[in-house]
This record gives sequence, structure tokens and C-alpha cells, in this order.
Amino acid sequence: MTAKLIKGTEIREEILKEIEAEVKRIQEERGVVPGLVTILVGENPASVSYVTAKIKTAKALGFKEIQDNQPETTSEEDLLALVDKYNKDDTIHGILVQLPLPKHIDEKKVLNAIDPDKDVDGFHPVNVGRLMIGGSEVKFPPCTPAGIQEMIVRAGVETSGAEVVVVGRSNIVGKPIANMLLQKGPGANATVTVVHTRTKDLAAHCKRADILIVAAGVPGLVKPEWIKPGACVIDVGVNRVGEKISEKTGKKIAILKGDVDFDAAKEIAGWITPVPGGVGPMTITMLMKNTLNSLKFKLGLM
Ligand code: NAD
Repeated sequence: MTAKLIKGTEIREEILKEIEAEVKRIQEERGVVPGLVTILVGENPASVSYVTAKIKTAKALGFKEIQDNQPETTSEEDLLALVDKYNKDDTIHGILVQLPLPKHIDEKKVLNAIDPDKDVDGFHPVNVGRLMIGGSEVKFPPCTPAGIQEMIVRAGVETSGAEVVVVGRSNIVGKPIANMLLQKGPGANATVTVVHTRTKDLAAHCKRADILIVAAGVPGLVKPEWIKPGACVIDVGVNRVGEKISEKTGKKIAILKGDVDFDAAKEIAGWITPVPGGVGPMTITMLMKNTLNSLKFKLGLM
């Protein structure tokens, strides 16, 4: 069997078109656009490239966007004051503080200072609680899990009654996606098992999965014989395993590998996500959707 590829790059384009059309419609009818601010402290090259990509996407969609970069020496007090400024700014609907922050700043304190109704990353304890309750309580599902659920649904994979196994229990991927898929409602209603480093027989659990979601950060952890024939395999892992010269640019680029042995797994699975080009492109896309939804909540459109 050769699995159907679930391509994040294609699903991203579909969703971005939907967001763009909605932004235009709201602007025409209500005269407002979603506003997103990214706050970056310091010049960590990976963080610079993440915020630049987020702001570029927001701009292309017609959002108001602010890239607020602060020097590495910014104090915690000044950063909290900046967050407070954007909490009070009516034209801003999403506030994103890029992590990691410099060591002299308490990350938790800063993230918890963001107004939960502008917390489009969905990491504030209030939003984690809302996600746990589910249904209409949910405002901002965290972006990577939201992207995973969107991919499963858009690929036409049945989640209701499905055995889902999630490998990994992090706060940004494993725990939230497990919670989202067990909720009562469309794109969910699954029976969910979460496995981790202390799980006794990882293979036995994975073999039962109709939908296997792997977010461990260990290249090639999931072996082809752990996959149930016809299963949907979502590989969240992004592991740098070396470098190569890009044919396009002639520059050095990272060789990326997922947590699943893709070449062998695709002959057994029914659906599979590639790495790169699978879950990766969905995260920024869902950040844009959360920012649009934040405006819609404010306007009473949701
Ligand atoms: P994390 O390190 O916070 O958590 C990894 C989890 O996997 C832990 O709960 C751990 O118990 C479990 N785990 C690790 N090794 C294991 C093993 N051998 N057996 C069983 N369980 C094991 O990582 P994270 O932040 O959740 O990210 C996981 C992977 O997903 C990473 O490769 C990361 O780069 C990637 N990721 C991708 C995106 C994206 O594409 N947008 C977003 C977030 C994370």
C-alpha cells in the first residue's frame, strides 16, 4: 500500500485563502482588520526568522502587523509594560511573545501577563483551561495541535470512535492534541492514549492506533512494524540530522527528518505527513486563524 500524503503546504494555501477572504469581508462590512504584534527580545537568529515569517504572512493577509523587536538588555519590568500597552490597544487582537526570552526575564510571568483574550498562541493558563473544558469555551487552541486536527479533518480521516495514540506529552503538542481529540464534537470523539518515555511497551500501543500522532523529537523513533496497516500517521517531529547544499540557492541548509521512518511507513499507512512540508507549515497558518478569530470574538461574530 502507498499512503496518501497529507501535505501541510497545500492545506496551508487553502486555509490562508479562506482567511484572506474573511478579512476582506470584515473590513468591508465593519471597517476593521485583525491586528497582530510579535514581541522579540534579543537577536536569536532562529527567533528572528520565525517572527519575520509570522509578520510576513500577517501582512499578506491584510492584517495590521507590528514587529516589535527589543534589545537583549530589556528588563522584565519594561517587557511587562510593553505587553500591558498592547493589552490595552484596541487595534491589536493577537499578542505573541517569541520564546525563548533572555535568562534575566521570567518567561512564565510575561506569558501570564498577556490578556487571555489576545493570547493567540493559546499558552495562557486560562486558555489551557478553556481547551480542557472544550466546546464553546475554547477560544485559541494552540497552533501546532490545531494544525494537526485541521489536517486530519481535511484529509477526510474519521476521528469519531478512532483509536488515537499520541507519542509525547509536551504542553505545546502532546497534551493539547490528546485533549482536543477526546472532546465531544466534530473532528474529535476519539479514544486517546498518550505514551511517553516511561511507557512500558511503546510498540504495542502504536500498533493499535487508527491515528498515530508522533511528537517526540527522536528521528526515526517509530518503526514501520509499529504502524497498523491503513492508519493515519501524523509526524510532528522536526529533527536536524545534518546539512546539505540547497540546489535552489547554493547555500547550506539543514537536512530535516521526522520521528517516523517515512520511506518504510508510507508503504503501510493509509495516510502520512511528510517532513518537511507536513505539520510544519500549519503552525503559522493556525496563528493567523486564531488572530482572525480573536477579532471575530470581539465583534460578536463567533
Ligand atoms: P518535547 O521535547 O517538549 O517533548 C517530547 C515528548 O516526547 C516528551 O513528552 C517525551 O516524554 C516524549 N518522548 C521523547 N522521547 C521518547 C521516546 N523515546 N519514547 C517515548 N516518548 C518519548 O518536544 P515538543 O516540543 O513536543 O516537540 C516534539 C517534536 O515536534 C520536536 O521534534 C519538535 O521540533 C517538533 N515540533 C514541530 C512543530 C511544527 O512543526 N510546527 C511544532 C512543535 C514541535
